[in-house]
Parts: sequence; C-alpha cells; structure tokens
Amino acid sequence: MRADVVVVGAGVVGCSIAYHLAKAGSCRVTVVDRGGGSTERATGGFRAQFATPVNVRLSLLSLQKLLRFADETGIEPGYRPCGYLFVASTALQLQRLRDALAVQRAAGSDAARELSRDDVLARNPAVSPEDIVGGTFSPVDGFLRPSEIQRGYREAAIRLGVRFLQGTVLGLKRLGNRVVEVTTDGEAMPCATVVNAAGPWAAEVGRLAAVEVPVTPLRRQVAVTAPTDVLPESMPMTIFADGFHCRVRDGRVLLLRPSPPAMEPFDISVDPHWVDTVLDVGRARVPVLREVSVASSYAGLYEMSPDEHALLGFAEGAENFLLVNGASGHGVMHAPALGQLAAEMVTLGQARTLDISALRPSRFREGTPNPVRTLL
Ligand SMILES: Cc1cc2nc3c(=O)[nH]c(=O)nc-3n(C[C@H](O)[C@H](O)[C@H](O)COP(=O)(O)OP(=O)(O)OC[C@H]3O[C@@H](n4cnc5c(N)ncnc54)[C@H](O)[C@@H]3O)c2cc1C
Repeated sequence: MRADVVVVGAGVVGCSIAYHLAKAGSCRVTVVDRGGGSTERATGGFRAQFATPVNVRLSLLSLQKLLRFADETGIEPGYRPCGYLFVASTALQLQRLRDALAVQRAAGSDAARELSRDDVLARNPAVSPEDIVGGTFSPVDGFLRPSEIQRGYREAAIRLGVRFLQGTVLGLKRLGNRVVEVTTDGEAMPCATVVNAAGPWAAEVGRLAAVEVPVTPLRRQVAVTAPTDVLPESMPMTIFADGFHCRVRDGRVLLLRPSPPAMEPFDISVDPHWVDTVLDVGRARVPVLREVSVASSYAGLYEMSPDEHALLGFAEGAENFLLVNGASGHGVMHAPALGQLAAEMVTLGQARTLDISALRPSRFREGTPNPVRTLL
C-alpha cells in the first residue's frame, strides 16, 4: 500500500510525530514498529533545567503541550510538578549550575532558583547534610507517565487515520537522493517521506538507506525498592554530581546512577554489582534508604548522539529522509516538541515554532556540535 509518510518506530517520539503529521493534514501516514523500545523503561522525569538554549526551549514547548495534552488526546500525561533538585558538593559544581541558570533565563525559563545549603535541605530533608554547598531547584520540573504519553499520541493518531503496523523495517530503497520505498517483513510501501524514529536503533535504520546516523545505545540501569513510605511521593527528583539520582514512583523509590557501557551495545541485562553499589551510594546520600531493600531492577537504552542533543532534520544526501533521533535520554520529555517540529518540517518544509538549527544533522560533519555541558 502506498503511504505519503512512513515513520519507522512507534515509541513516544514516533507516536508524537505520527499524531502531529495527521493533525497537520498529512494523509496516509503509516507507522511501523517491531516492539521493545525504550519508552516503557523511562523513569518519567521532566525538566527545563538544561545548560543549552535549544534544550531549554524544547522543554518549554513540550511543557505547553503537556498542559493541553489531556484535552488534545483524552489521556492524562501524568505531569506532576514536584521539581528537580540538583545538589552541588563543590564550588565548581555550583558555578556550573549558576551558569546553566543564566542560559535558562536567556532562553525564556526563569522558574529555577539557586539554593543555599540550608535551602537544599529544606527542599529535601531526607538528603544527608554532608558535602553540600548549594544547588538549584525548579518547581515546574517534575514527572510524567511515558507510556501514557505514547498511548495518548498513538490513540489520537489512530483516530485521525494513521495506520500502525507491527513489523520490522528491513529495507529502505534509494533512487538517487530520495528514499522511494520501505520494505517490511510483510509488505513493500512506496512513499514520499520516511521518518527515522527508531530510538537506540536509529543508526541501523539509517544504514538501510546508506545514511550514517551518529546515534549509539547506552545502557541505563534502574533499581526499584520494595514498597515504602520512607520518602514522600511528592519528593523532587534529587540529583547529585556523580549522576546518582532518585525519585519516588507509585510507593517505591527508583535509584539510578550511570555505569560503564555494557560489553554488547544493546545488552540490557542488569549487573548485580551495580545494584549493590547504587544502593550503597543511595544510603550514603539519603540515609532513610537504609530501611529499604531493592526488590527488582531492570535496564533500558538511551539513544546517545555525540553532543547529547537530538538530531532533527533531513539527512544529508537523502532529502526526504527525516531524522528525529539521539535525544540522549530526554526523548520522553521532548517528544511533544519534537513531534510538532518534525511535522512542520515534513508539511511546511521547515520548523516554524522554534529555531532548531542547533539540531541540524550536518553539525557533526561541519565540526560545530553543541557543547556537551553537564549541569553539575
Ligand atoms: C532507564 C531509563 C530512564 C529514562 N528516563 C527518562 C526520563 O526520565 N525522561 C526522559 O525524557 N527520557 C528518559 N529516558 C529516555 C527515553 O526512554 C528515550 O529518550 C525515549 O523513550 C526515546 O523514544 P523513541 O520513541 O525515540 O525510542 P523508542 O521508545 O526506543 O522507540 C523506538 C522504536 O523503534 C522500533 N524500531 C527500531 N528499529 C526498527 C525497525 N527496523 N523496524 C521496526 N521498528 C523498529 C523499536 O522497536 C522501538 O519500538 C530513559 C531511558 C531509560 C532507558
């Protein structure tokens, strides 16, 4: 069957793109997905506290859209503004947070504030007072329900006529600088535009069209405690300089901390040693966790780009192959914005709502990637 647009991947990003395309009047949108993506594994954080203008603006656009999400799709996105609390242990870390606050203000987000050591402890009294010099907090940051956002966009897209196919895209046929046909395990679809929304598998899908997509998978492990009320459900996401962070979800605490990459790039097994370590680190930072045990754990994949910013734009050398990839662990919170901007690119030829030149795929070849700035 012919499609105007084929979207590869029905994670939260692909569903958002499909919905926004259909809403903008694109006919015959088909989404192909083989299942098992990252969206359902996301822990559900939302923040506008970023250190580059484009990421701040993506968050602000997403927030506007999340506030209208239930009216638009009929599904509650689960946005709860419990805040993000960044905790600095050194003067240098605090300075980085201050620098990021300046970027946020210049980009139109003035919700976050610098905190003194005492303010940090007031915001989250469960945090150990040792090694804290200050921090930042934003009351508009908080939590989302990733699978509900994916479901909301998917169901709204279906109501607008989008076709979702279960299957694997095996081939993208090129004719000159265009992709003219998508082959799945079930059918071949001539098409006008193809969108790569394949999350951590974006490079594989790019290769089908002879396009290099600089996105690699990165394992993220999560330890989940037994049910507990030692921390309140309203506790802000609390993040320390070594990347350890924790939140409460549905009466359990989720503990996360970066770990070295797995031996196999797509490995999502959990390292038992990592679980012991994250619990030890958690108990040192948040002493009430000594009263709680870890009940389960799981891992998923971030979709990392070299500068940890999304790629959003038509591929160089393949003018109808749109890349919406590499959100680098921020794909859920930015999916509402990315979907709208991608639909503008397909239907209007360019993004109108935001200047997204910082996300152009050619930036790596041009030697002008975005700065990789950690917040702490
Ligand atoms: C532990 C963890 C915690 C996270 N926490 C957060 C968070 O707090 N906030 C946040 O914003 N983000 C978070 N993320 C990141 C977030 O999950 C991703 O950024 C987001 O889900 C990416 O969405 P996506 O639609 O691009 O990819 P996915 O959800 O992975 O969807 C891509 C889909 O493409 C399909 N696909 C790939 N290749 C093919 C093919 N050839 N044919 C057919 N289908 C194909 C896959 O099967 C998959 O279903 C977290 C991720 C992890 C692992």
